Amino acid sequence: MLKVAKFGGSSVAGADQFKKVKAIMEAEEGRKIIVVSAAGKRSGDDHKLTDLLYLCHAHITYGVSCADIIETIRKRFVEIRDELGLEYNIEAEFDKLMPRLNKSMGVDELVSRGEYLTGRLMAEYLGYEFVDAADVILFGFDGHIDREKTYSAIKEAYEKHGRILIPGFYGKLPGGKIKLMSRGGSDITGAMAAAAVQADVYENWTDVSGILMADPRIVDQPSPIEKISYAELRELAYMGASVLHEESILPVKEPGIALNIRNTNRPQDPGTMIVDNIQEDDDEQERFITGIAGRQNYSIITVIKRNMDLSGSLRKALEILDRYHAVVEHITLGLDTYAFVTATEPLGDSIYDILADLQKTVRPDELTVKEGISLVAAVGRKMTSKPGISGKLFKALGDNGVNIRTIAQGADELSIIVGVENADFEKAIRVLYEGFAG
Ligand code: ASP
Repeated sequence: MLKVAKFGGSSVAGADQFKKVKAIMEAEEGRKIIVVSAAGKRSGDDHKLTDLLYLCHAHITYGVSCADIIETIRKRFVEIRDELGLEYNIEAEFDKLMPRLNKSMGVDELVSRGEYLTGRLMAEYLGYEFVDAADVILFGFDGHIDREKTYSAIKEAYEKHGRILIPGFYGKLPGGKIKLMSRGGSDITGAMAAAAVQADVYENWTDVSGILMADPRIVDQPSPIEKISYAELRELAYMGASVLHEESILPVKEPGIALNIRNTNRPQDPGTMIVDNIQEDDDEQERFITGIAGRQNYSIITVIKRNMDLSGSLRKALEILDRYHAVVEHITLGLDTYAFVTATEPLGDSIYDILADLQKTVRPDELTVKEGISLVAAVGRKMTSKPGISGKLFKALGDNGVNIRTIAQGADELSIIVGVENADFEKAIRVLYEGFAG
């Protein structure tokens, strides 16, 4: 079984973590491609190399020396190398870099050295061929990754060397310049590699045993999700669950490659398996919620107008919202009313213009805005076509004194989303978790 394994910053933060990575890579013959982030934090008060490199570049921009920061970074690499008895000439790399640390050096090239050097050390440690991302992750003139060229370059390197390491997070523009992805972009590099070689599994190794069923800052020790479909993952991620870089999903979802999120510090845990079609086994627990997520600070704009032409009025109102770039999350409809749920902050003061335009155009009997709303989503493929689920959820929230301001169910019945007061946000998540997920 061919696997691409991507290790995040905390998995490669120091020599001890390198040892864990090696044990994992050696445990399965099929792990032939590895992608690494730059060394991350070793403890709470430590710094990610990527952050230090960005900081260094900011110093350069303002004409302040970043020699101290560069020295800290150099030491981190030397420490890892020496502790593992490796030979890679880190000093020579920094000797080459130092004279170039001036305003002419682009931020992308400088920051990419975090992944590059972490990758150099890891490749030597594992005995894998180092393949520079600048040679295989190829951006087009439009700044997007050219998938076709990238896939064929990765495939060629893999076929030539058999076991390869690609540093994450960067690639090359057509003119030869290095280009970074957005933060967390090594997830994308890993996904590209998995798609390029048509891997069976894309493993994403991090420091938690999979995606958690709810935010651990709100729910005490939530269980990890064992299996989740790509569609459920999308709902959870959209509603605020922090998972992978969003652009890393499509390249593996499309060809049907399974994505497995694992914990480098607990390789015995199976982690979360994300697949397209889940075969349910009957003896699985009777949980019908896969995960719970939510976001705060929405507004509900409500229009009431007796005897109105609902669809005509709604169309005009939507046009107004569109004009002010308001993203409508939900619409609720009644006979003589409709309401929109939209994020408060991006609207800013244009809410006053929206209200004025609505007043003028749809001439409502009543027009109200209610701010301070949170949306909480219960997501679960097993909710589909099962009667009584929403009733149970609403009852649990009601029994616990959570007042529901809006209700929405995805047309695919994959999620039920309730709007509650911001003050009830955490309580709603806890009630749903404790009642139906935990
Ligand atoms: N090192 C980069 C970051 O911290 C990229 C990554 O880790 O994926 O964002």
